[in-house]
Amino acid sequence: MRCLPRGLCLVLLLLMAVLCMGCGSAESMGNIFSSGTQAGSSSRMAEGEMTISMLNVGQGDAILIQTGEQNVLVDTSDLDERDKIMAELEKLEIKKIDKLILSHPHADHIGSAEVIIKKFGVEDVYDNGMPSTSKLYAGYVKMIKNKGIKRHGLKVGDVVELGNGASFHVYYPTEKLVEKGRKKDYKHDPNNESLVGKLVFGNFSMLFTGDAEKAVEKELLASEYADELHSDILKAAHHGSKTSSSKDFIKAVSPEAVLISAGEPGVENGNTYGYPHYAALRAYRKAGIPADQLYWTYENGTISITTDGKDYQIHAEHDKEWADEWMRKK
Ligand SMILES: [Zn+2]
Repeated sequence: MRCLPRGLCLVLLLLMAVLCMGCGSAESMGNIFSSGTQAGSSSRMAEGEMTISMLNVGQGDAILIQTGEQNVLVDTSDLDERDKIMAELEKLEIKKIDKLILSHPHADHIGSAEVIIKKFGVEDVYDNGMPSTSKLYAGYVKMIKNKGIKRHGLKVGDVVELGNGASFHVYYPTEKLVEKGRKKDYKHDPNNESLVGKLVFGNFSMLFTGDAEKAVEKELLASEYADELHSDILKAAHHGSKTSSSKDFIKAVSPEAVLISAGEPGVENGNTYGYPHYAALRAYRKAGIPADQLYWTYENGTISITTDGKDYQIHAEHDKEWADEWMRKK
């Protein structure tokens, strides 16, 4: 800047200062969704124990978070898997679900939302805030309206408090995408409108990715949240599909374990896609994740993680190492 006139330098400095003020503003502009007596604070210490269960629900996603204060379900699996999710929740003696977080409106994520809401009387529903033409979506939106359940659209920078100091930090979708997605004739790409966010409890963290694909991973890596992606555990995006799990994204997250939710391969109306794909598994293995730290609901059954906010333990219904053999078959 040495060669510029002094006045111009000042203008440039001022401009830089204004731009930098904007740098950190996305987070401060985000909403904090809290309930109960701890309203307004996202910095509670981790209290007690939290359990996360990736439920064995066939082809779809359904992950239960129990913080001791609240039961939170992330996705509900498909409608034709409802008996499985109900059986899983019964096994865990769940009587109430406080919050439902729906990553995106594809059937294998919101399919059982209506039956869950009916049975468990959910208090708050969180989704990506964008409309969908899907019948299942229309059904659950109508039901929450009729029941007076609060629906919240999440976007980057938002934080949802889940009780006992656990919180869900949203990294995707961006505000711009939500704005576009709310416009009438917008052509939706539901996978790439998935909610992506990190569950934080003390020092423990797990990244939730819905069915986000490589394009979203790239956006996240270029976002101001890139440094926050690092997590102890990664929920494999898009059921371990090769459309997700790029090398750079896995490197940024650098998880110690990866959890994959996908049903029996090749089953009609189910996992006809052959998830998890070789390319995704190869990427995890190449990133240094040991084969016994790759978990898949079809092979391992329900996978649960227990943490006190310092350490964590993973417990699988079926203790089994399958990844390298599955890769050889592919
Ligand atoms: Zn899916």
